[in-house]
Amino acid sequence: MESVRYEAPNNVEAAVRLLAGENGAKVLSGGTDLIVQMRLMNRVPTVFVDVKRIPRLSALALDAKGLRSGAAVPAATLYGNETIRKLWPGLAEATDLIGSSQIQGRATWAGNLCNASPAADSVPALIACGATVVIAGPKGERRVPVEQVNVGPGKTSLAPGEFIVEFEIPAPAAHSSDAYQRLIPRSEMDIAVVGAAVALTLDAGGVVKAARVVLGAVAPTAILVPDAAAALVGSKCEDAALERAGQAATAAAKPIDDRRGTVAYRKKIAAVLTRRVAKIAYDRARAR
Ligand SMILES: Cc1cc2nc3c(=O)[nH]c(=O)nc-3n(C[C@H](O)[C@H](O)[C@H](O)COP(=O)(O)OP(=O)(O)OC[C@H]3O[C@@H](n4cnc5c(N)ncnc54)[C@H](O)[C@@H]3O)c2cc1C
Repeated sequence: MESVRYEAPNNVEAAVRLLAGENGAKVLSGGTDLIVQMRLMNRVPTVFVDVKRIPRLSALALDAKGLRSGAAVPAATLYGNETIRKLWPGLAEATDLIGSSQIQGRATWAGNLCNASPAADSVPALIACGATVVIAGPKGERRVPVEQVNVGPGKTSLAPGEFIVEFEIPAPAAHSSDAYQRLIPRSEMDIAVVGAAVALTLDAGGVVKAARVVLGAVAPTAILVPDAAAALVGSKCEDAALERAGQAATAAAKPIDDRRGTVAYRKKIAAVLTRRVAKIAYDRARAR
């Protein structure tokens, strides 16, 4: 067996040098995907670059502008934060759905995103909330909306040597909220057959003035569904508007057939979850 190196740099520049230095280098965050894949699929990096000792990647800051979360902050810390749960309840519930307590003690948003599974739970919720990632690489830093990071199953738009340093999530406007739900085939840990996230902003009279609707597990990446969002804008999420949003979700879904569900089933569930999740987000926004 070839030797595998382990490096744990304590600053961003050193991590970039290590990642850019060899093709087989891989970022190690929680390792809950990477180590499993290494064992099951014999995908062994030449060097693990453990980013958890970089202080910026473990920092969490909340202010009037929103949340800045280091990429290595584990799911348990994010879900355990009362302010995050209050401001972004949908994102918090998506984060709390990742695996078990043990998995959440290690798993990160960055790993969930960069593993690039179409079924990742936190990704639709991050996109619905308008999250951006700060990416560091050999050419410096850049900011990218979360929806532009994944380009297909297992594939990201990150260039060689680049990695995610932070997530930035804008503070929700007045009368805003979000929600996330997924369908899994059994009640224990499993992968989403379909996931749906909705973030809504209402006017003072309770009419939806802005919406983001995102589906997971029905396309090669999580997808924004502008037609579903448009169906909700101008409504009070009455049944007719929810129905139209659901139809738009079904139309946008381009799922695969596999043992978890057929194309027809997934398209139907996309509508069901979109309707349910939009109503939950609406009721939460009204209560603010
Ligand atoms: C038992 C079990 C249950 C699970 N259940 C769920 C579930 O219900 N829902 C779900 O969505 N997922 C689930 N997962 C998958 C996994 O836990 C999540 O995807 C998790 O969020 C991955 O985060 P991590 O920090 O462990 O990533 P890692 O395993 O460390 O990394 C995953 C990938 O992302 C890359 N990466 C990590 N950090 C960065 C970074 N900062 N910049 C660039 N690339 C990076 C790595 O190089 C690797 O390719 C489960 C896994 C297990 C083992």
